[in-house]
Amino acid sequence: MESGPEGSLVTSVAVLGAGITGVTTAYKLALRGFEVTVFDRQPYAAMETSFANGGQLSASNAEVWNSPATFLKGLKWMLRKDAPLLVHPTPTWHKLSWMLEFVAAARHYRENTIRTAQLAIAAREHLLGMAEAEGFDFDCEKRGILHVYESKSEFEHAQEVSRLYAEAGLERRELAADEIAAVEPNVHGRFHGGFFTPSDFTGDIHKYTRGLAEAAKRRGVQFVHDARVERVRHGEDGVSVEWLDATDDSAAADVRRFDSVVVCAGVGSRKLAAQLGDRVNVYPVKGYSVTVNLQDEESQASAPWVSLLDDKAKIVTSRLGLGRLRIAGTAEFAGENRDIRQSRIEPLTAWCRTRFPGVSTASIVPWAGLRPMMPDMLPRVGRGRAPGVFYNTGHGHLGWTLSAITAEMISAEVAEAFAGRIRRPVAGSAAEAPAGAAAQTA
Ligand SMILES: Cc1cc2nc3c(=O)[nH]c(=O)nc-3n(C[C@H](O)[C@H](O)[C@H](O)COP(=O)(O)OP(=O)(O)OC[C@H]3O[C@@H](n4cnc5c(N)ncnc54)[C@H](O)[C@@H]3O)c2cc1C
Repeated sequence: MESGPEGSLVTSVAVLGAGITGVTTAYKLALRGFEVTVFDRQPYAAMETSFANGGQLSASNAEVWNSPATFLKGLKWMLRKDAPLLVHPTPTWHKLSWMLEFVAAARHYRENTIRTAQLAIAAREHLLGMAEAEGFDFDCEKRGILHVYESKSEFEHAQEVSRLYAEAGLERRELAADEIAAVEPNVHGRFHGGFFTPSDFTGDIHKYTRGLAEAAKRRGVQFVHDARVERVRHGEDGVSVEWLDATDDSAAADVRRFDSVVVCAGVGSRKLAAQLGDRVNVYPVKGYSVTVNLQDEESQASAPWVSLLDDKAKIVTSRLGLGRLRIAGTAEFAGENRDIRQSRIEPLTAWCRTRFPGVSTASIVPWAGLRPMMPDMLPRVGRGRAPGVFYNTGHGHLGWTLSAITAEMISAEVAEAFAGRIRRPVAGSAAEAPAGAAAQTA
């Protein structure tokens, strides 16, 4: 606790990680009157998993993967080279422990799917509210998300999942094969049927995170980039963060003390949590994307505007303005490996040419990222063992969809833990604050 303006007390919080979870957390904490410092090893915000993901803000993709049907599919896929799932055979204790917990979580499939859908619905007003209040663009397209199914059995499974979504309050429309073209006329294929969720939407996670980071700076948040956090320690006087300059191997470590810390470090969270005495079993589940540059009129006219999830290929698309189409998919269990493998990129490009033959794939930007995934597929949002230690991490395949609400939740929890001790006048008035994030001083 330090002296702030007019001799008031300021509660300092370190946020570890400047991906979508760290930046939304920092922003929400700043609105609540905390003095926030964000650390990241990268030179800018959103350079790791929050860089080029599938773009979907999708309550309709909230089904957790912990189900016997998915396990069976996974086993079949292990025999196919171009399958959407790949498990690298080298065993590690981390992978094994994660897999065992993943299978054990199947008993919570139902409630975890409903809970995830509820969080995704609740996130929408926060995500849109922050962008609106701060006035930045992120290529948002509010045109719904269309799921397409080639097989009857997958379609019937989707009907069951829809019933769970309905319990969570999500409405989606069942489509016969001949109704799909009315929703997205550009998609080619022989489908058994589809589901359309009009309330889902899409946007560019990188643009959003960068836009919000700039807004957070205007509200007093400090960003320390190129800062590789090596050690976090909890002591009697709070939390100390020790970091190295990622651009200078010869530089000595810097250390700073804070009243509190929120770990939002994506796939780096497990290691940092262990230093704080907590087990946060995040595994890096690798995925790939290609961003197709729609350079000619025919490509622009032939690419979809409605976002898709093709169930068979497990591929998603998002239209990012007139000139870009993002296509993403695959889940690879290969540890913390960020290599972009051509054999995983080719199926994404081939899929584009099959489903959207008029789109030229002459100019594509490939990318690979690591989903920070918990075994039960629910993010870890809450307190650690030691006082002043918090987590908002492990959002897996839905970090873009869920982070706005989990940031709201964790900032409320930090505020509760420090109730009566935040004294700093809030940057920006409560009237300016976006939905659900009304500024508070205790
Ligand atoms: C192919 C693919 C497609 C996806 N599609 C979607 C989608 O359509 N919809 C959706 O909702 N989600 C999607 N996701 C998931 C979503 O992108 C992630 O859940 C989200 O980006 C994770 O954000 P994060 O902030 O937790 O992690 P990150 O964005 O990785 O941020 C963590 C930050 O912590 C920093 N860091 C880590 N360790 C340290 C350290 N020791 N010191 C300093 N800094 C550190 C890193 O540099 C990084 O910037 C997809 C993911 C992938 C890979």
